[in-house]
Amino acid sequence: MSLLEVDAIDVAYGNVQVLWDVSLEVDEGETVALLGANGAGKTTTLKSICGDLTPMDGAIRYKGEDIGGLPHEEVVAKGVAHVPEGREVFTESTVRENLELGAYIDRSKMQERLQEVYDIFPRLEERKKQRAGTLSGGEQQMLAIGRGLMSDPDLLLLDEASLGLAPVLVDDVFEAIQRINDEGTTVLLVEQDIYNALRVADRGYVIKTGEIALSGTAQELARDERVEESYLGA
Ligand code: ATP
Repeated sequence: MSLLEVDAIDVAYGNVQVLWDVSLEVDEGETVALLGANGAGKTTTLKSICGDLTPMDGAIRYKGEDIGGLPHEEVVAKGVAHVPEGREVFTESTVRENLELGAYIDRSKMQERLQEVYDIFPRLEERKKQRAGTLSGGEQQMLAIGRGLMSDPDLLLLDEASLGLAPVLVDDVFEAIQRINDEGTTVLLVEQDIYNALRVADRGYVIKTGEIALSGTAQELARDERVEESYLGA
């Protein structure tokens, strides 16, 4: 049984359907990349998994249990964390306060979790008393990921973690993703950066205008010209 099974979901905004029959699986311990052009449906897929959107049809199973349509908080409580696109941090709150907000489900392990996040992102510890709005873009992205980790997830959903960052920070973010996975968290990431995504991922899926067009191991996809074409041909 896979940790996560997205089974033939159809998803719409109002009466505009944007996902058709999307299926994917993530096994425990894997890093899986969901790739595709702007507007292909990557964010919509993640939002469906984390309870922000309810599929019209199909099922989403986490540890074998159907979670499709459950409220976001309940999905988080089951062990799924979602780091949305755009590093939404509370700019007026400190780094530490932002992290503490991520542990709202279970506050008992707060110190332990904080230390684990600081181990992965030492810069957040150095800046724990600083207001989040004064962090650089890369640091805010690290904070957003750190906040996701505070709920002690088994599955981390990352939406465009590297978007808009300077190359050196992109490397830092991918290194952190690798480390988070090495320490036992399963990762499903959405990325525009095909090269880095396939470098850290075990497997990947390519979504094209709302349908899964390709899937394979990261090595297979890295060699497949159709992956790059799917970005250009949107
Ligand atoms: P990007 O990389 O640009 O974020 P994406 O692959 O994540 O792209 P989605 O954000 O999932 O794509 O969007 C898929 C489709 O759904 C697009 O055609 C988009 O215009 C549409 N869409 C997204 N959000 C809404 C919304 N709130 N209402 C209506 N349509 C939407």
